[in-house]
Amino acid sequence: MTKSDSKNYQRKKTRQIQVGKVLVGGGAPISVQSMTITKTADVEGTLQQIYALAAAGCDIVRCTCNDAAAAEGLAKIVPRSPVPIIADIHHQYRMALAALEAGVHGLRLNPGNIRKPEHIKAVASEARDRGVSIRIGVNGGSLDSDLYEKHGGLTALAMVESAQQELRYFEEVDFNLVKISVKASNVVLMVDAYRMLSEITDFPLHLGVTEAGPLPGGLVKATAGIATLLLEGIGDTIRYSLTADPIEEARAGRLLLESLGLRERKNVDLIACPSCGRAEVDVIDIAQRAQQAFADKKLPLQIAVMGCVVNGPGEAREADLGIAAGNKRGHLFVKGRNVAVVPESEMVEALVEWATFIHEHGTDAALKRVDTTIAEREAAKDRNAALAEQGDDANHDQERIVEIRRTVAEK
Ligand code: SF4
Repeated sequence: MTKSDSKNYQRKKTRQIQVGKVLVGGGAPISVQSMTITKTADVEGTLQQIYALAAAGCDIVRCTCNDAAAAEGLAKIVPRSPVPIIADIHHQYRMALAALEAGVHGLRLNPGNIRKPEHIKAVASEARDRGVSIRIGVNGGSLDSDLYEKHGGLTALAMVESAQQELRYFEEVDFNLVKISVKASNVVLMVDAYRMLSEITDFPLHLGVTEAGPLPGGLVKATAGIATLLLEGIGDTIRYSLTADPIEEARAGRLLLESLGLRERKNVDLIACPSCGRAEVDVIDIAQRAQQAFADKKLPLQIAVMGCVVNGPGEAREADLGIAAGNKRGHLFVKGRNVAVVPESEMVEALVEWATFIHEHGTDAALKRVDTTIAEREAAKDRNAALAEQGDDANHDQERIVEIRRTVAEK
């Protein structure tokens, strides 16, 4: 772990609420959410997706409750789900009441499309009596039309005002088990809205860039918005809204939190060099095969795949384990020290075997496992051979510089 990994981000203090067994806000670990894309009435299909989401790192799952069949499905799903279930409600406040009857752990209401105060207050009163939390889920695309008019379009302030208006209705019936989101598909707008909201409320915030779209653009947009806010200490729970298999949303959420040091790493952190003219192997292929090989392994290690033995072991010296290619061989290193040499075709298998050993016995035992002098000698041999062939300067920079100077002098 590097120093910056262990940095404790100054998180904004928020109130704490509970969504089933998951605490949100008030210093609780940031949770990952996603949403099923099955028909909620399809109980078995929905549960299958919920289990897959939970396995991918999702802490809370939302299901749509858009009709009576969906509400009945929720009644069967909730007791069998491994994670708390939130019902997503649009337009029909009666569906919110039906979902509460089904025993859901939370509701999401869109203030833009359930607008009658008496309906909002009826749902909040019922949620209050049952101790169930509600997310005020403002969405830029379905902003309350009056607020849209008032602000001359979609603005950060209009979204924040929409949330405040809903909060006032909740306060009237003494309901405060609330979290809030102000999502927009425009990243800058979304970031502005959350910053503004975070200044005026201490209710926990659910972060997301709505309708971020398919991969890879959707991932980039969602990460840009969510990560910016998390690094400012804003946000208590997150959701990636991707046009993709929801498993990708859960995975992305978990990976983001792990990479920001906000969630304990459970899986391999695979790092790899981007490859360059010096690479002696197809780094992309080896990295992809390593990614597949480690996908389901619960090994909280950083593992490096490097294209050449000239720079690889040094550049990845902080990694727990790594491999660098050289002269048709793979040079394995542990914390930057060469430990073994394997044929190029066995690089991925060797990584898996050594990673498993390190996980079970530790780094020191791995370094004592073999006589490292042999591996170091072989690595030096291949490094020197590569340098003799390519030179220190794989990009031939000295020749280029001479050429550049000549070109400039001629002008
Ligand atoms: S490790 Fe070697 S192949 Fe990979 S980017 Fe660095 S110099 Fe290039």
